[in-house]
Amino acid sequence: MALTATIYNFSIGLSDVDRAVYESLALKVARHPSETEEHLLTRVLAYCLEFAEGIGFSRGISDPDEPALSVRPEELPFAIEAMHLVTDGLPAYFIIHACYGAFDAIYSQMLKLPVDNLDLAISHSTLNLMEMFRRDPFTKDLSLGVLDVHSHEVEAPETVRARIEKGLQLLPKESIWIDPDCGLKTRTVEEARAKLVNMFAAVKALRADSGVN
Ligand SMILES: [Zn+2]
Repeated sequence: MALTATIYNFSIGLSDVDRAVYESLALKVARHPSETEEHLLTRVLAYCLEFAEGIGFSRGISDPDEPALSVRPEELPFAIEAMHLVTDGLPAYFIIHACYGAFDAIYSQMLKLPVDNLDLAISHSTLNLMEMFRRDPFTKDLSLGVLDVHSHEVEAPETVRARIEKGLQLLPKESIWIDPDCGLKTRTVEEARAKLVNMFAAVKALRADSGVN
């Protein structure tokens, strides 16, 4: 069963003399079990500091609806700008996950996202990565989703392995990260566990056979 969010109610008297903003705010904020109370409070404080007409909360630290890169191509330039704001100057390895959608339409522009690794949810799509990569060579590392998270079927390690090997035809092994694709939240705990066990079995077998660490 999916873990449910806890709703927090905030009653805030906001007096920002610097910006001449005076408001009485009644906020309802959802805290996902993966979010700490400190993080929730930080979000509320940021909301107050930036308060303006029309500003709103996302659904929390784990928000599956944003950014919807692959279904709203017109928002891609905005996403690139936003990612620059978040990542510029930070000496870290950045990964962005993009869910199902029209990757073939936005792929070349996606390469402009200032991240090191694109995590594309593609395991059950008919997307021809080979064709896309031939058109515009891939310039980042790829997190390769190898489980179909929309299927109840627990894929055999051989099936998962075949998906990994397909990826290895596209990119050098150093550039590929294996992951389950999109989150497994739509699966039962048993299904998710079984799928992950088989994913690790596939990775292990492949490593053993090819001498890859
Ligand atoms: Zn996803």
